[in-house]
Amino acid sequence: MAAPLRIYQVAVPAPLYGFFDYLASPQAPAILPGARVRVPFGKREMVGVVLGEADKSILALNRLKQILQVLDSEPVLSANLLQLLTWVAEYYHHPIGEVLHAALPTLLRQGRAAEAGVAVWSLTPAGRAVEANGLSRAPAQKHLLEALSAAPEGLDAEQLAQVSARWSATLKALHTKGWVSAHTRDCLQAANATPSQPPELNPAQRSAVEAILSGLDGFRTFLLHGVTGSGKTEVYLAAIDKVLAQGRQALVLVPEIGLTPQVISRFQQRFRVPIAVLHSGLSDPERLCAWLMARDGKAPIVLGTRSAVLAPISNLGLIVVDEEHDGSYKQQDGLRYSARDVAVMRAARDKIPIVLGSATPSLESLKNARDGAYTLLDLPDRTGSAIMPQVRLLDMRRLKPSEGLSLPLREAVTARLERGEQSLLFLNRRGFAPVWMCYDCGWLAPCRRCDAQLTLHQHRQKLICHHCGAEQEIVKTCPSCQSQNLHPIGEGTERVEGALQKFFPKARIERIDRDSTRGKGMLEEKLRRVHEGEADILIGTQMLSKGHDFPNVTLVGILNADQGLYGVDFRSGERLFQTILQVSGRAGRADKPGEVLIQTWHPEHALFAALQRHDFTGFADYALTERRDTGFPPFSFLALLRAESPQPQAAQQFLAAAHAAALKHRSDQSVQVFAPVPAPMERRAGRFRAQLLVQASKRAALHRLLGPWLAELTGLKAGKRVRWSLDVDPADLY
Ligand code: ADP
Ligand code: ZN
Ligand code: ZN
Repeated sequence: MAAPLRIYQVAVPAPLYGFFDYLASPQAPAILPGARVRVPFGKREMVGVVLGEADKSILALNRLKQILQVLDSEPVLSANLLQLLTWVAEYYHHPIGEVLHAALPTLLRQGRAAEAGVAVWSLTPAGRAVEANGLSRAPAQKHLLEALSAAPEGLDAEQLAQVSARWSATLKALHTKGWVSAHTRDCLQAANATPSQPPELNPAQRSAVEAILSGLDGFRTFLLHGVTGSGKTEVYLAAIDKVLAQGRQALVLVPEIGLTPQVISRFQQRFRVPIAVLHSGLSDPERLCAWLMARDGKAPIVLGTRSAVLAPISNLGLIVVDEEHDGSYKQQDGLRYSARDVAVMRAARDKIPIVLGSATPSLESLKNARDGAYTLLDLPDRTGSAIMPQVRLLDMRRLKPSEGLSLPLREAVTARLERGEQSLLFLNRRGFAPVWMCYDCGWLAPCRRCDAQLTLHQHRQKLICHHCGAEQEIVKTCPSCQSQNLHPIGEGTERVEGALQKFFPKARIERIDRDSTRGKGMLEEKLRRVHEGEADILIGTQMLSKGHDFPNVTLVGILNADQGLYGVDFRSGERLFQTILQVSGRAGRADKPGEVLIQTWHPEHALFAALQRHDFTGFADYALTERRDTGFPPFSFLALLRAESPQPQAAQQFLAAAHAAALKHRSDQSVQVFAPVPAPMERRAGRFRAQLLVQASKRAALHRLLGPWLAELTGLKAGKRVRWSLDVDPADLY
């Protein structure tokens, strides 16, 4: 009797829950969990990841297909990482195949080999013995030999090309003579910077570092609450230094906007080690290189945005999440995970400390600290002589702004210009004006595909929808009354930039928003000009609010603070406070005192009183009380089922069926299932959207419902006509 076939459980990147069974010949070597295989799937071939071996399948053996090719003899994903990713799939109720897919670099998804070395050439002993002078009749060889002799560690193709354009033929000749040999070097090297001396830590920083280092062998979550400019980054660096000294690796997560060249170079200057930098702008080979260097322990520091939390790191000793409150840690499509929350789970599983740092911690983390689950570390003061800026409210009910700028704000800018200091104006709205309106009949230019108005972009001479991206020519005649009396209403950054040019014709103005920094390197170039004093006034969106240290900015103006004050979402107030405090934190970070002017129509609001006192704790008390009274997170746990369809009623019909199913599966009265409602913006990009909220006072009770409920949803007929998704711990409810 022939030996039985082996059955493997394989995760494939398909939007289907669970894994699939495949066969392999019993003679072939066993395939280890975490190795990639090529398998037939439907009419296609896919690269999947083996999860394990099974002794039987629920399908008859003759219905199982064969594994076509084993791509890895060693697993690309370690057992430890595979377990973390499985947890992610279960917690967010997302197909495991898609989670693994998200965690792999593109080249590995495509089935390419898991290697990323760079070929370098160096002289052999015979080559070193050659007297270069003797080669006077072969000047090209002589030249190359000299270059190689000056580089004992070898030269790669890029470096050889700088020596000679025709290096390849010359190298071949040297190789034939036995004078050079090739080997492979790591694809990532330490930066060639002189290491910078760390500053002497102040007492608050020192005790924070000591607390973190006191337990490097166990799981503990620290909430590092430090005002802007209080030296949080120095605390991270000092703790990481000790972790590296133990031969372990550190993972540092930063928000999308926070991974600026300055941040990277700060790490490179402090530690002369290869740093694996992971962000969305990498080329495929760069990403594979960083990923493998992290996995193999060759990059002691892994620095990246959201998805870096899924990176393989063989010997992790510490995790840092900078600006832990930042919205970019939450992925808003596909696998809707929170990198901060996954990071905490990863630290718990690996039994290592994790530091969550922020000047404006999320209410979730703050409550965890108050409940004793996290350890709070405080940095109450700015470093050196820098003090917190003065905050003044400008009551816009009495001050008439001209193109968004009140007189006191313009005077404050004038004073900065006279003193040679910089001003930063913040307006969270790009474009020229958010509304294009007919003065005769009140018509507002609408997006055809969304329940929203179009934004006027004057530079591009277009009306653009900020929700679906649709663009159209500027309407010159009102389609409703044929009048030509059309005007822009309200201000965006483009319009304020123009107004600033009129008010301050001699000033050098930089606008920083998504439109003005579209091209590669444009943001870096603008930031460079600001840092080198080649700009007097900055006007920008929240791209300006984070991570930057502008020592010569002494005035921050918040042009429209009220956006979000009475927002539709339960987190609007928290976000507004965080943003304003972060932007204000850009002012007066060096030895010159800063001033913050806030233009508002609601100066009596409690949020502004707290801002004036730099009182994050006071704001948090107020906001937490409000959340407790309304039963929102962190006092409850949410899941949001969203559905959308081009047909007006389809999403609501699906959710009505989903609602009935949820009530059937609910075993626990502590879980509340709300009736489906249209989304706050019902129509977007031509689709009608609706949502259903599930709320529970206990996390476990919520997840007990989600599992069986989701299994039923995948089978619902009404679900075939809509696009739907489940968002566990949603960041917002629209
Ligand atoms: P944060 O991350 O809290 O915004 P940083 O770590 O970037 O703060 O520190 C702000 C500035 O203060 C930086 O220029 C940093 O080099 C400097 N700094 C931090 N700690 C100290 C210290 N103990 N002594 C002197 N300068 C410091
Ligand atoms: Zn009209
Ligand atoms: Zn639109």
